Amino acid sequence: MSSFGSASPALRLTDAAARVADRLGTGDLVVAGLDDDDLLGLLADATEARKALELIVATGSAEVARRSARDLGYGGLAQKRGHRTGTGLVQQITGLARGDVTRAVQAGEDLAPVVSVVSVERGAEATDAAIPALPAVSQWLQLLREALSSGRITQAQFHAIRAGLGEPPVDRYPDLDPQFLPAAWARAVHLLLDEADTLTVEDLRNQARVARDRLDPVGVTLRFEERFAARSFRTWADGSGQRHARIVFDDDAAAWIDAMLQAALRPRRGPRFVGADAVEKSKAVKADDRTNEQLQYDTMMAVLRTGANADPTQAFGDRQPGVRIVVEASAIVAADERGSMQVTGVGHLEDGGQAVPAGVVEKYLCDAGAIPILWDADGRPLDVGRELRLFSRTQRLAIGTRDGGCIWPSCSAPISQCEFHHIDHWWEHHGRTDVDDGVPLCRNCHLRLHNQGWRITRHRDEETGIDTYWLHPPPDPQTGEFGEPTRLRSKSPRRFTAA
Ligand SMILES: [Zn+2]
Ligand SMILES: [Zn+2]
Repeated sequence: MSSFGSASPALRLTDAAARVADRLGTGDLVVAGLDDDDLLGLLADATEARKALELIVATGSAEVARRSARDLGYGGLAQKRGHRTGTGLVQQITGLARGDVTRAVQAGEDLAPVVSVVSVERGAEATDAAIPALPAVSQWLQLLREALSSGRITQAQFHAIRAGLGEPPVDRYPDLDPQFLPAAWARAVHLLLDEADTLTVEDLRNQARVARDRLDPVGVTLRFEERFAARSFRTWADGSGQRHARIVFDDDAAAWIDAMLQAALRPRRGPRFVGADAVEKSKAVKADDRTNEQLQYDTMMAVLRTGANADPTQAFGDRQPGVRIVVEASAIVAADERGSMQVTGVGHLEDGGQAVPAGVVEKYLCDAGAIPILWDADGRPLDVGRELRLFSRTQRLAIGTRDGGCIWPSCSAPISQCEFHHIDHWWEHHGRTDVDDGVPLCRNCHLRLHNQGWRITRHRDEETGIDTYWLHPPPDPQTGEFGEPTRLRSKSPRRFTAA
């Protein structure tokens, strides 16, 4: 009795193996005599057999692991055979590398073997309860399992979808019907299974993540913040004295650096040059004998040097490399009593579709502007509007000179590291903008402001006409009340000028 689809792995294995035997005959393994169709057919049949076989190995490995659980002590299967863990025992039998066994065990566990009652020969205290119970199966996972066990997808594709989607975070949305997210997960699985044939495994995993992020916008922010907190840069010298570095990127910086490196590598990868100087350019690319890694290194160093040598009074905000984010206009609202723009939904990187949390979309909208695109009901773009750009180059210069650096109270980042935050109403006013409504914030302070819901307001003294800027902490999650604002002070040397 099996819970698998109509064609069980064992049946598929024997069928495919029989076809392979038909094609090869009984002699030596000689493929040179096969015609093209037979050769490709042989590969397809052998692959089909291997997929079924891998599935059987995975399910068996998981069962060995289950019968060798730590709790079982010396009574465990592996332990009785002189191994410390189930993985060790499976490794010895299969000759697979440790990582392969671990993956096989995971795949097997995901498949949740049908046999659940196992008698264990051990001491008098032995009970079946000591063997970890098999978890209940949700519909979306069942769909995936059936696709794997019927041979529709490979183990690698199964893992890509499984890992990319993760579990539906039902606890994160207490107001939703508890069936809502699992049902959405099942729909996503259907779609991904349909697309699995046409995508590479990496793309499939990406698309599964895109689906998850689309269905779990709160998680997008949590994951972003987790990865932001994990950002790091470390250098060390090896035995010979050569320095190495290891970088862990946050999502925002990763998108930026990808765009930059893509641009550097494009002449090698992208379409061949056309036009008058095409031959010269192609020659130049061919003459460049650097490896891609050397080219990426040189590009990064050049950017770092330029940054280090930058004029500290010139902001980089007006020459950001092209990271484009797609967000639905309905997700952008001119909300709250202060009239500030707020993004309520998740955006997506134009390249790769990775989800971008609302706060980061806000940050980009705020500093870099937007191009509105109108769609019809059938998803055809109707019209591309005027670019809504916030501050011109000269306006940025003016703001930079006025404030002298990141305006956040405890931050000392110079203007050269600043973006420009627009304090209110800009979305409503279609990007029309005034230097009085802009303040410089370094990237980290700007991200923090939008991600955590801080606000900056301007107050104009009616009598003197002098503007002051105030930083308001996010509203208290319990009461919804705003805390005491802090006065923001210019860091420009001009502030010392005698009035
Ligand atoms: Zn901003
Ligand atoms: Zn700052």
